[in-house]
Amino acid sequence: MPKEKAHSLRCPTCRALVLASEENFPFCSDRCRLIDLGKWASGGYVISTPVTDPEQLENMRPEEPGKDHSENQ
Ligand SMILES: [Zn+2]
Repeated sequence: MPKEKAHSLRCPTCRALVLASEENFPFCSDRCRLIDLGKWASGGYVISTPVTDPEQLENMRPEEPGKDHSENQ
């Protein structure tokens, strides 16, 4: 095989046409590559540790009770 022909694939993330000469081939961009990697990381791997910790959710409550109208003067 003397020379590679203009070879192209569809970006797995956004389906854009990507040439084999592209830096991020087969992805159209670094961003799409990271998105695809993230997809694999979150969907392909099943981690036994639960992600949602009830105690953490308690601490992350957005409202602060007891701070209602005392500063509203
Ligand atoms: Zn893309």
